[in-house]
Amino acid sequence: MNVTREMFADVMVPNYNPAAMVPVRGEGSKVWDQEGNEYIDFAGGIAVNALGHCHPEMVAALKDQSEKLWHLSNVFTNEPAIRLAKKLTDATFAERVYFANSGAEANEAALKLARRWALDHHGEDKNQIISFKQGFHGRTFFTVTVGGQAAYSDGFGPKPGAIDHAVYNDLDSLKAIMSDKTCAVMMEPLQGEGGIISPTPEFVEGVRALCNQHNALLIFDEVQSGVGRTGELYAYMGLGVTPDILTTAKALGGGFPIGAMLTTAAIAESLKPGTHGSTYGGNPLACAVAERVFDIVNNRELLDEVKRKEQLFRDGLNAINEKYNVFSEIRGKGMLLGCALNEDYAGRSRDFLVASTAANLMCLVAGANVVRFAPSLVIPDADIKEGLARFEKAVAAVVNGQE
Ligand SMILES: *Cc1c(COP(=O)(O)O)cnc(C)c1O
Repeated sequence: MNVTREMFADVMVPNYNPAAMVPVRGEGSKVWDQEGNEYIDFAGGIAVNALGHCHPEMVAALKDQSEKLWHLSNVFTNEPAIRLAKKLTDATFAERVYFANSGAEANEAALKLARRWALDHHGEDKNQIISFKQGFHGRTFFTVTVGGQAAYSDGFGPKPGAIDHAVYNDLDSLKAIMSDKTCAVMMEPLQGEGGIISPTPEFVEGVRALCNQHNALLIFDEVQSGVGRTGELYAYMGLGVTPDILTTAKALGGGFPIGAMLTTAAIAESLKPGTHGSTYGGNPLACAVAERVFDIVNNRELLDEVKRKEQLFRDGLNAINEKYNVFSEIRGKGMLLGCALNEDYAGRSRDFLVASTAANLMCLVAGANVVRFAPSLVIPDADIKEGLARFEKAVAAVVNGQE
């Protein structure tokens, strides 16, 4: 069958608006489309492809497991799932793991666990969940309601209740709505979709203290910030604030769908047999690939390289900005960076993305005012350099009114 981009609208639900070209092949941080055009990948499958495309060790792990066992369901356990859970718990604060297939599902599990834990220990009045405006936690109805963007959660009928929103980096706004009825506070330790916003140390420490004071669980959604993205294995490690529940997905499978919820043994007790589940969660193929990714990323040398590469990006982006004066700020951490557009270019992030694609560079946006980069953690320096040169062309095209 001869597949074209034009066919998309004839066969797909119209909730996405993908680029005009169709990628067919990837290797490392390069991707090729149907016409054989080469792109440098600064998008990384939206912070997923932590080791680039078709990393040989991941391909080997997938091939190896594909000849042993593909799926069992949770009526049985399997070796890759137990091994991966052991590695995740050894490397973090957590003692117990629940596997899911995506970030939203990991968050759904975290929120249900928090509610059940509060019911078990404090009674049914302790059910308030607080999260932050501009936050993003996935697209199931519970997670999208907890997420702080009405545009994503409105228009689907009655929402799950007892969910309130405070302002990120504004401790007083949290204090004002928090009480002993709060069962959990959910936050991203670096807001991704909301515009690449880092928490201030006072804020994140203050959130932890308020959770302690009100006996509420602190849930860190590390779906985007986790697995080496910030130059730490998990972002919480760089903040010095430990959550009670942590969710991880995206880069965890490096491109194979998997998510996980991590917590302590005591809190995990509330997910008794039968309380929650998933047909595919802990699937052996997914866990075998994720285990290999985790082995490679959980390495101080690799994580230090992420920090060094961040500086290459920052230097290059600052140089572009000196020439064209388009950004107010370069923000974020490690391989999760955002170029905030200045007033002259407000609302135009998509123009930069379209111009980048035309200049053979794949990138992302985070809202209308931020161009986002979330490349592979092991992107070669030469690809960073070439990608930045292409980005400069894209910036020039926007500035000169060609986009
Ligand atoms: C992407 C993302 C999610 C949702 O993950 P899915 O795999 O798309 O369900 C949740 N939280 C954060 C912080 C994310 O970036």
